[in-house]
Amino acid sequence: ATPTAIMVAVGKGAENGILIKDAQSLETAHKATAIVLDKTGTLTKGQPEAQEISWAQPGLDEANIKGIMLAMEQQSEHPLADAIIRKLEAENIKPVAVEKFQSITGKGVQAVIAGETYYIGNRQLMQDAGVIVPESQQKIAAEQAALAKTIIHISNSKHLLAFIPVTDPIKETSAEAVKALQALNLQVHLLTGDNIQTAQSIARQVNIKHVAAEVLPTDKAHYVQQLQAQGQVVAMVGDGINDSPALAQADVGLAMGKGTDIAMESADMTLMQSDLRHILTAIRLSHATVRTIR
Ligand code: ADP
Ligand code: MG
Repeated sequence: ATPTAIMVAVGKGAENGILIKDAQSLETAHKATAIVLDKTGTLTKGQPEAQEISWAQPGLDEANIKGIMLAMEQQSEHPLADAIIRKLEAENIKPVAVEKFQSITGKGVQAVIAGETYYIGNRQLMQDAGVIVPESQQKIAAEQAALAKTIIHISNSKHLLAFIPVTDPIKETSAEAVKALQALNLQVHLLTGDNIQTAQSIARQVNIKHVAAEVLPTDKAHYVQQLQAQGQVVAMVGDGINDSPALAQADVGLAMGKGTDIAMESADMTLMQSDLRHILTAIRLSHATVRTIR
C-alpha cells in the first residue's frame, strides 16, 4: 500500500465521519467476506422504552416491587436499565435501599433488599436463580418477544414477580444498509445477548438470515473466531462494552460513534454517526484505496 493512497483514504474517511485508526484495516475491509452486526445500538436505535408491567400474580405489593426495580437498575449501566428507570421515575416511584448489588454480565442484575435476594434480567438469569417462569407467563412473554420486544424479568429467590417488555425500534436506515451489504456479497450476521425470539423478529425485519442470540459477551468474540476458522474474513460492528472483545477479534472492527469509549478503543474504525450506511462508505473507501494501490 502506498502511504499516499492511504493518507488520501484516511482524509476522505474523516470527511465522511469515519475515523480510521488503523490504516491497515482499509485493506483488510476490502477482503471482508462476512459482517457481524450487534443488535442493540447497531441495528436498533439503542434507546429502549419500557412498556406496561405484566404482574405474575394478583395481590403483590406493586409499589414496593417497583421501588426495588428502580433501586437495582439505578446501580446498573445497561441501556435497558435506563429504560426502566425512566418509566419508574415518571411514576414518581422512590428507590428502596439496596445491598450487595451485583451485575451479571449478559444476564442482568441481582441485589439483596431487606434480607431477600432479587433478580432482574433475562430468562437465563431466572433459570440460574432456580426461578420457574409459569407457563402462562412464558406464553405472554413469547408473544411480546415475537414482536421484537426484550423481556425483562424480576423475581425474588423463589418466584417470578413480574416482567416488563422493552421496545427498541430498528433504525430507519438498517434494512437498506443490510441489503446493500448483501449486494456486496457479504454474508450478514446478527449477534446479540438478547433472547432468540426477539433476535429473530429483528432479523426478519431487516432480512438477515444468520442469527446468533443469547450470546454472552465473551462468546461474541468466539463467534467471530469460528467464522474466521471457516475461512471468512470478518468485519464486526458494535457499540457496547460487550462488543469490545469481538471488535478486537474481528479482522476489521467498526465501532458506532455513539457507543462506549471501550468499543471505540477496540475498533479499527469508528463511525461518527450511528448509521449503518456509513459502513458501506467505509467499505467502498477500502475498495477505492486498494484499486489505487494496485
Ligand atoms: P445486548 O447488548 O447484545 O443486547 P447484553 O449482553 O448487554 O446484550 O444483555 C443481554 C441481556 O441481559 C439483555 O437483553 C437483558 O435481557 C439482560 N440484562 C442485562 N443487563 C440488564 C439490566 N441491567 N437489567 C435487566 N436486564 C438486563
Ligand atoms: Mg450493543
